[in-house]
Amino acid sequence: MRLKQWFIRTVSYPLYEKSRGLTVRSKLRELEAGANRTPEQIREHQLEKLRSLIADCGARTPYYRELLKRNGLTAGSFRSQDDLSRLPVLTKSLLRENKEAISVPGLFRRTYCHQSSGSTGEPKVLCADTEAESHRMAALFRSRRWWGWDIGAPVLEIWGTYHLRPSLKRTLRMSWIENRFRHSVMRLTDATAAETWDVLRKHRGAYVRGYVTSIFGIARLFEESGRNPAELGIRAVCTTSERLYEYQRRFLESAFGCPVIDEYGASEVGIIAFQCPSGGMHLMEENLIAEFADPPRPGPADAKSLILTDLNNRATPLLRYEVGDLVRPDPEPCACGSGLARIRVDIGRESDVVYLPDGSRVSPVLFCHMGQYSFYEIGRKIRQYRIIQKSLDRFDVEAVCNPDDQSEVEAYFRKAFEEDFDGLVRLDVRFPDSIPPDASGKHRAFVSEIHPAGPESG
Ligand SMILES: [Zn+2]
Repeated sequence: MRLKQWFIRTVSYPLYEKSRGLTVRSKLRELEAGANRTPEQIREHQLEKLRSLIADCGARTPYYRELLKRNGLTAGSFRSQDDLSRLPVLTKSLLRENKEAISVPGLFRRTYCHQSSGSTGEPKVLCADTEAESHRMAALFRSRRWWGWDIGAPVLEIWGTYHLRPSLKRTLRMSWIENRFRHSVMRLTDATAAETWDVLRKHRGAYVRGYVTSIFGIARLFEESGRNPAELGIRAVCTTSERLYEYQRRFLESAFGCPVIDEYGASEVGIIAFQCPSGGMHLMEENLIAEFADPPRPGPADAKSLILTDLNNRATPLLRYEVGDLVRPDPEPCACGSGLARIRVDIGRESDVVYLPDGSRVSPVLFCHMGQYSFYEIGRKIRQYRIIQKSLDRFDVEAVCNPDDQSEVEAYFRKAFEEDFDGLVRLDVRFPDSIPPDASGKHRAFVSEIHPAGPESG
């Protein structure tokens, strides 16, 4: 295992970089050389990159050329990050409507396209140029190295999606360039747990990365079946794509006997924030300028809508892009000493804000508290669950459990809802054999079906 890691770090990854025109390792060295930058120095660095980005956009990107002209702006107009507010926010629908005028991959010899289905469920593909891709990968490697997780270290991804058999080229790249293996966990069953256990044993000493609910669900099945994941020598568990709740972090840390690292990214801009060993979620400010706007609809207290400007990507420049996630800025300096600003990502996506019939709004955290309590009490009987808000006053609970336990589980959820919502909402409880992931392959503990129209649709 170690020999392969050494081979990738010193031979195959450098060769891969060279063949693709990537400059990840040199950018990684630059990032690490700048690790002691103060917040002021980081802002200066951003501003310099912002001016160069604006100049390029004005020259080469039809959408921004027109926008800058209309607002009488040039690169020189940007004297501080605050001047970005002279441009309108780029919403997902604006991006969709103007994609041809924003995305100019034809100007580049090679681009890296990333596909995702956003919170709207609509698949989108956005391309990054080689320079931007190198910056993104460098920021990711830099952040992993805070934990001693270096290029070439083995990574086992526990993903929620079935994948078609990958091409030989892709299989070779994943294995011999990235040392990355993927294991699909669609249904959380005893059979999946046994299979995953064997895969993890085979990848002893790897880093495990994946969706929170998949890893958490599997870890709980291990516990139920008397398996001890701490035996597997997993170096760290890295959670992504979903909110990591504190009770899940505690459970995973204790089950696997290793650190649990939270990562936050989006396919449009790459890695956005990464947790440091002192617990701060640091923004990748060398690559991104973050703004915190009032959310389109009122959300939980002090929640802000995250707006990002990607300082590197010229193939699809995103200036003031509305990511669609609610975050909280975290202004306190971090114990790790990094000058990179921090955010808290403990709120969830805008589509996950829960609206109630009396006009109040609550965080979906509430539903996961139900999971937390259930975990300590009745939860051992609930294999998997999902709460769906069907309309303002109607919620469905789907729970997977033994038929013998159904009445007890139903009574538990009814009591929990009654206590939390005081008779405001109706509840239907169903017991499917399994709960499939959503279209993007993610399992979500809470799904709102009344977004985007929100309360008006009720
Ligand atoms: Zn920190």
